[in-house]
Amino acid sequence: MAEKKVRVRFAPSPTGPLHIGGVRTCLYNYLFAKKNGGDLLLRIEDTDSQRFVPGAEDYIIESFKWLGIKFDEGVGVGGDNGPYRQSERREIYKKYVQQLLDAGYAYYAFDTPAELEAKRQETPNFQYDSHTRMSGVNSLTLPADEVKRRIEAGEKYVVRVKIQPDEDIEVDDMVRGKVVINSNILDDKVLYKAADELPTYHLANIVDDHLMGITHVIRGEEWLPSAPLHVLLYRYFGWADTMPRFAHLPLLLKPEGNGKLSKRDGDRLGFPVFPLEWHDPASGAISSGYRESGYQPEAVVNFLALLGWNPGIDQELFSMDELINLFSIDRVSKSGARFNYEKGIWFNHEYLIKKSDEEVAKLFVPILKEKGFECDLAKLTYIVSLVKERINFPKDLWDQTSFFFVAPTEYDEKSLKKRWKEESPKCLTELMEVLKGLSDFSKVEENEQIVLDWVASKGYNLGTVMNSFRITLVGAAKGPHIFNIIDVLGKEETLARVERALTVIK
Ligand code: GLU
Repeated sequence: MAEKKVRVRFAPSPTGPLHIGGVRTCLYNYLFAKKNGGDLLLRIEDTDSQRFVPGAEDYIIESFKWLGIKFDEGVGVGGDNGPYRQSERREIYKKYVQQLLDAGYAYYAFDTPAELEAKRQETPNFQYDSHTRMSGVNSLTLPADEVKRRIEAGEKYVVRVKIQPDEDIEVDDMVRGKVVINSNILDDKVLYKAADELPTYHLANIVDDHLMGITHVIRGEEWLPSAPLHVLLYRYFGWADTMPRFAHLPLLLKPEGNGKLSKRDGDRLGFPVFPLEWHDPASGAISSGYRESGYQPEAVVNFLALLGWNPGIDQELFSMDELINLFSIDRVSKSGARFNYEKGIWFNHEYLIKKSDEEVAKLFVPILKEKGFECDLAKLTYIVSLVKERINFPKDLWDQTSFFFVAPTEYDEKSLKKRWKEESPKCLTELMEVLKGLSDFSKVEENEQIVLDWVASKGYNLGTVMNSFRITLVGAAKGPHIFNIIDVLGKEETLARVERALTVIK
């Protein structure tokens, strides 16, 4: 028999900006789908109206567009299994809730929040289950006509799953292996709320995975505790034969390795935990994003791919196609992955220097503009070529090159103390004459040779001449090769800077 086509889904709830852990989950789903010639679906799980946040869905779609992760089906794409927004599937779920009710795998419950609270007060660790359900207000304890009356009167009931006691449930997880638990520890979870006319996550998730032909459920470890209930629901629906395989991904841990990564860690250590900048519609608060912080999408993908998975070879830089080729769930680790954000910065550096000088220059243009400068692309490309190796982010280009655009008016104290010698003014005054005699500043090597020969003929200290010269041009003892610097500045500006420094530095 031909193998079933792989179909996986990313199923976020639009409750706010997508956390970077969710991005990794989707990436692994994508890599798995593409590796196996399958499809990736985007399903929006918006059944919890209390937690719905406007803008979150668009944010999710834009994030994956930026990262180069394409969905084959789902919200924003379409397909034959829609609608893909759960809030638009009300009628579908009702039918399946009824199926469970009719088969005796679910029941109506009318307990008010106050009644449930009283039970919790009475019994520590109270849960609604086979031991307690007969003391509740539900269709197992009320006469049938009373149940009917309440429903018809519009009472706000819920439907609970009736967990059969003493059943062993086996969860065969592709990452964690086989886990067997007994149904006695599960509670009768709410599957449907009449108040919203919507199912809860558990029911909607199972029904949709089934109807959408999902073959593998790859999701975060936080959903592992729900897996036994999901296995049971497949059984109660009679879908056990086509149940998807589960793979629960390891947690992303704090950079220090202790505990779960949170937004606070990002704020504390200065890295984003969201793919794109997020403007909270309620509070107006802004959270930083990888995109706006100057990360290259390829770098983010590469970094995330290796957080919890390894290809088993001695290589760190992978294109998306290489990742797809190498990906396998077998190599996903069981233990949490430390969120080494510094490694993320390293990846960004690597991806930036892989780009051509001109591409990086184009990234520099808007930054420069914000600083109030414009520069033709050829010249900017040249400037970028001098400093590209030193940057982690496009914005670092400004720190590395600002002196090209703004002549120094002050000179770094430390550099002066160390590098400015008594004979510096005399040497520089004479050097200016040598520079005036140079015909073309773009002859970088030739000019360097002329100046070196001159220094040697004078018997001056080469370090003193060059370092003092550099300070007059840059304002400090830093920057790229000096003969490249003067090539960019040109003769007139170079001489003006030396002259100005000689009047200012005492
Ligand atoms: N809506 C759930 C979430 O927000 C989906 C979990 C799952 O993949 O089953 O993560």
